[in-house]
Amino acid sequence: MTMKAKKDLLLKQWKESGLVTTEKILEAFRAVKRENFILPEHEEYAYSDYPLPIHGGQTISQPTTVLIMTQALEVAPGMKVLEIGAGSGYQAAILSKLVGKTGQVYSVETVPELVSFSQQNLNKSGCSNVTVSFGDGSQGFAAKAPYDRIIVTAAAPKVPPPLIEQLKESGILIIPVDNELFGQTMKKITKKNGKLTEENLGEFRFVPLKGKYGVR
Ligand code: SAH
Repeated sequence: MTMKAKKDLLLKQWKESGLVTTEKILEAFRAVKRENFILPEHEEYAYSDYPLPIHGGQTISQPTTVLIMTQALEVAPGMKVLEIGAGSGYQAAILSKLVGKTGQVYSVETVPELVSFSQQNLNKSGCSNVTVSFGDGSQGFAAKAPYDRIIVTAAAPKVPPPLIEQLKESGILIIPVDNELFGQTMKKITKKNGKLTEENLGEFRFVPLKGKYGVR
């Protein structure tokens, strides 16, 4: 099967299962080549629906997880979005398409090798509205705050307070938070009139969030 055929199949499955809710979202996934964000030795699995190892013991998330998180984030053109955990840069690339030319994506990554890996992959994919910075994203990224949307792609023990502070009014934060059983509960937190509302999006498994508000 060609790469394009594999990709078409994955997108068709998403559509037929009703998992994908808008054509805009599908369009963003269509516009980004996942093969640009993985290691060459895994290329044949670019559109298999599972995470793949990248550098530094980290992983590129499973495509369906990226889909679910992206949809929950409700991104619109022109928005300023913060991602914690650039990893391969794939999630940032999808966000880049959704915010469009008038929007901006900032991503923070704590593994130096992945800062350059993700930036290279994003350049290859023509995502000029994304900036990847080295740092501890558990403290957010104060330099460009506040944000319309914040997405955390690593498992947090608790919601880091700086992320709430750096979220705009009417902003949305998507974050997998450790639960007492196994893995994480994906939380969607919305800030309305200064107050937070929380919704659970299901159980997932992520690599741990490190840093000040990460695992100790
Ligand atoms: N969004 C990525 C998935 C990356 S996996 C993608 O689309 O490929 C999670 C990433 O979070 C890892 O790369 C890990 O190094 C990074 N990470 C963990 N703790 C972090 C922290 N405190 N600040 C920034 N990045 C962190």
